[in-house]
Amino acid sequence: MEKKLIIVGSGPAGLTAGLYASRADLEPLIVDGLQPGGQLTTTTEVENFPGFPEPVQGTELMERLRRQAARFGARFLAADVVGSDFGRRPLELQLSDGRSLAALAVIIATGASARYLGLESEQKLIGRGVSACATCDGAFYRGRAVAVIGGGDTAMEEALFLARLCSQVTIIHRRDAFRASPIMAQRVQSNPKIKIIWNTVVEEVLDVNRNEVTGLRLKNVKSGERSVLEVAGVFVAVGHTPNTDPFRGQVAMDEHGFIITTQTRTNVPGVFAAGDVQDRTYRQAVTAAGSGCMAALEAERYLMAQGQ
Ligand code: FAD
Ligand code: NAP
Repeated sequence: MEKKLIIVGSGPAGLTAGLYASRADLEPLIVDGLQPGGQLTTTTEVENFPGFPEPVQGTELMERLRRQAARFGARFLAADVVGSDFGRRPLELQLSDGRSLAALAVIIATGASARYLGLESEQKLIGRGVSACATCDGAFYRGRAVAVIGGGDTAMEEALFLARLCSQVTIIHRRDAFRASPIMAQRVQSNPKIKIIWNTVVEEVLDVNRNEVTGLRLKNVKSGERSVLEVAGVFVAVGHTPNTDPFRGQVAMDEHGFIITTQTRTNVPGVFAAGDVQDRTYRQAVTAAGSGCMAALEAERYLMAQGQ
């Protein structure tokens, strides 16, 4: 069945687009993907979403936004988009179960996924001591020593969360300054349970032979000195990659796979993109929500111009 508007993704961008589009009577269908609610469902307290003077849990914030979109008629589909054909009209989205969806307009709001270091030992030990989500896996390391890799806001947040549960948290960062916002960096640096190792990279996650994490082989990039840090768990927080594989070759992207937009419009008429999937700079829940609103308004204008 042909839909007027399909929104791919139900993070802050997709749900806000759904809220605006449903209030404009576009009867949007929101495709959830593997992570309904998006990245914020992997965190604990969100302190910087406007309108919440007290911290709100990421899962609660997203549940509220979902209910708000549903209240005006947005519908949801539990499915994963694996391919697309924007060369035809209606636009086509291919699902992992072999079905396809047709729409007059599409908003891509597929966000981003956690990146890993790419070490062979790290890949072998994912789920056996290597994780990219402290709120998901931190409780397994209660009372034990863990490491966090990275120097951005996610690394700070992961370290602060883990410091509440673990005996010791060591942040390993490849430079001598954090990329994180000053307030987050300051909280980390004043937490007595968190130690920071600067100018250092992970060469190997130990111990593949035991099929569990026992430590990290580290190298100081300035002195070349090597050392071993004993930890029971390692949380990789080195950024995210945009989830744009299903749209490769269909819309213009930059060299990192981010969709190129002008006020959420892609190079294909009728195809819009919102949130982290098209934003290399800000990548915040509120900016994702804001661009979701913009994409819905742009889609509404486009459909109206098509006589819909
Ligand atoms: P996402 O939230 O990534 O949502 C993407 C959606 O697309 C998901 O529903 C997913 O299932 C779906 N999807 C993906 N691929 C497909 C597919 N092929 N088919 C169908 N659906 C698909 N920002 C803040 O402002 N404040 C914070 O405190 C904060 N804390 C954070 C903590 C952590 C640990 C992380 C990782 C991020 C945090 N951020 C925070 C950043 C914020 O979460 C993101 O900027 C925001 O979630 C981006 O929203 P989005 O809608 O673009 O994408
Ligand atoms: P990010 O800002 O891109 O930071 C990634 C960090 O990982 C950087 O410090 C980077 O080092 C390091 N890194 C990248 N590749 C590496 C590698 N191969 N080996 C070692 N280190 C590597 O990503 P993020 O922290 O996930 O944040 C993403 C966005 O979400 C940001 O806009 C952030 O503000 C937002 N966010 C906000 C909050 C909040 O407001 N509370 C919380 C979480 C996330 P370099 O610094 O050397 O490049």
